[in-house]
Amino acid sequence: MKLLFMGVQGSGKGTQAKIISVNLGIPHISTGDLLRGASEQLRKEIDSYITVGYLVPDELMLKVLKERLSLEDCKKGFILDGYPRNLVQAKKLDEITSIDEVIEIQISDEEAVIRAIYRVTCGKCGEGYNTKTNPPKRAGVCDKCKSALTKRADDNEQAMLKRIEICHKETEPILKYYDSVRINGEQKIEKVTEDILATLEIKS
Ligand code: AMP
Repeated sequence: MKLLFMGVQGSGKGTQAKIISVNLGIPHISTGDLLRGASEQLRKEIDSYITVGYLVPDELMLKVLKERLSLEDCKKGFILDGYPRNLVQAKKLDEITSIDEVIEIQISDEEAVIRAIYRVTCGKCGEGYNTKTNPPKRAGVCDKCKSALTKRADDNEQAMLKRIEICHKETEPILKYYDSVRINGEQKIEKVTEDILATLEIKS
């Protein structure tokens, strides 16, 4: 099954993609993570876009994504999180693969900003926390693997407002292009997962 998870930054699409990838036994591919983990050579250029909240150029993004999708573990499907972000990317994706379902996780802009500002992530295992609503037991330390928690450079109010603006302007038109299914993202994590799985079951 080839799935796209869409939604404004902070909507929980990464969290849900992680859970559902385990559930369905297919990899979770976050284009943000791919870019943040790119080679030293590409990082300087990539960071110049990411840290201020802009999208990296489509060609560069597509190159990185194509490499990832060509790996063996994507043969039986994948969950794509963070791509496509505009219509050009959506059309390019159609040229390289076919998508079965598009899930949109919906939250308000106000909630998105609050979630991002308080978000911290484990640098080692990737576990996510919110210092306001879901803090780690010890400040700055991951409950699961005891590694240090880090804050993304673009999880600040200014970059978030830019990311949200781009999302409304460039990413949302894709939802019509795909005929996506909308899920309420302002519910408990478990309930959002339940709603997504129910949708996939009905549709499969
Ligand atoms: P994310 O982790 O999905 O919030 O992405 C973080 C940042 O990576 C975005 O603000 C963009 O700068 C960049 N990025 C991620 N996915 C894409 C994409 N599909 N196209 C262009 N830039 C992207």
